[in-house]
Amino acid sequence: MCVNESIILLDIEGTITSINFVKEELFPYAAEVLEDYVKTHWNDDDFKEDLELLKKQAANDTSLEGFIPIADDGEDAKKSVIENVLWQMKNDRKTTALKQLQGHIWKYGYDCGNLVGHIYSDVPSVLSKLLDEGKKIYTYSSGSTDAQKYLFKYSCMGNISSLFTKYFDTKIGPKQIETSYTNIAKEIGVNCSDILFLTDVIEEAEAAVKAGCNAAILIRPGNLPQDPEKLLKFRTMKTLDPLVNDE
Ligand SMILES: [Mg+2]
Repeated sequence: MCVNESIILLDIEGTITSINFVKEELFPYAAEVLEDYVKTHWNDDDFKEDLELLKKQAANDTSLEGFIPIADDGEDAKKSVIENVLWQMKNDRKTTALKQLQGHIWKYGYDCGNLVGHIYSDVPSVLSKLLDEGKKIYTYSSGSTDAQKYLFKYSCMGNISSLFTKYFDTKIGPKQIETSYTNIAKEIGVNCSDILFLTDVIEEAEAAVKAGCNAAILIRPGNLPQDPEKLLKFRTMKTLDPLVNDE
């Protein structure tokens, strides 16, 4: 057995999913279909909730450069929502309002077959073997738990949702902060030392280690280069295979 910890905590983007899929397919898709989506879902309950959040966010954003206000009603309302959201996307805002709307747009994209979630081919078989060994698999991603669920349900490797016990997102805390990992351990009901965290970002691995977890770094094609000196402190791997194969 190559993993001593009972809990495997997985980052998604750059770890089990290609960064290029997220940057070149997922985010551009939300921007491309935004106008159609807003017009066709305007009266849907989900969209009404999204709109309320966007309006609340807009009330806080009025002093930001280039801010686009959301009109209350009438003909201009749809246009102003579209422009406000495009402005948020352009500025790479991480607001809950934007994330929730993007999550719903992606759900729509997956449902109608326009999107297929990317998962590296080594992932399902390794995770299945880890489950057979009695491990439990969790995720921790800056993408919302809903966005994570859809990615796994509609992945290029089929529906792999059953591999995961639970999904965490940044509601538990930011990924580069130690306490987020202690919060996750508490939530799962284990000690930090029971957790092996896998990520592509050194600062996230360092935060997890500070909390008392173990961590390893994935080096996938297209990942951002990491500080070579800091990398020396961690076990690195190109795929998840070393977790189940003796090397
Ligand atoms: Mg990542």
